[in-house]
Amino acid sequence: MKVFQLPLNPFSMNCYIYFDETTKEGIIIDPGAFTEDEKNQIKKVIEDNDIKIKYIVNTHGHLDHILGNKFAKDYFNVPILMDKEDEFLLENSQDQARFFGLNFPAPPPVDEYITGDTIIELGNAKLKFIKTPGHSPGSVCIIDDENKNVFSGDVVFKNSIGRTDLQGGDIKVLLSSIKNILFKEVKDDYKLHPGHMEITTVRDERKNNPFLQKDFKY
Ligand SMILES: [Zn+2]
Repeated sequence: MKVFQLPLNPFSMNCYIYFDETTKEGIIIDPGAFTEDEKNQIKKVIEDNDIKIKYIVNTHGHLDHILGNKFAKDYFNVPILMDKEDEFLLENSQDQARFFGLNFPAPPPVDEYITGDTIIELGNAKLKFIKTPGHSPGSVCIIDDENKNVFSGDVVFKNSIGRTDLQGGDIKVLLSSIKNILFKEVKDDYKLHPGHMEITTVRDERKNNPFLQKDFKY
């Protein structure tokens, strides 16, 4: 499996393109392209590597992660997957955009809701989903056990965690999601691909992330 990380839009949100190098089947995770140049960056990676995109997956519904949903849907014409509990964020995304002074086309509806039973097959890889609320109610992580990769959206970052002051955020719930759901599901040697900032490992965050240490008070 191969990963491309593309930091996009005024929020430096990481879009990922994840694909199987044999069958070329892949997904776009959080296609947050805002400018024409950013849309072209996504197209170029996919065309240069001959990737067959099967799904567009949103880790959650915040504006920076869904800015490019319309572009991706129009261009690739594949289903958009997201957790149902973040659908309200899609519905009020135009208000979020006005708040940040951005103008962007309304996102298309979700085609399939992500559940605990959702599986995406890319060649021999099977991607599964776990629900990890706290940053938003419908935040999910995408896990590839075979290849030891996890895409964590805005749940956990290198030395940081997702903000919890936005709609539906809750720090208690978020910390519990990381420690009791995500870190129970993935092992120390998994690579962690967050929605902002650089790629890290589960081991590094478990050991060094200040928000996840025993003495962290909130
Ligand atoms: Zn977010």
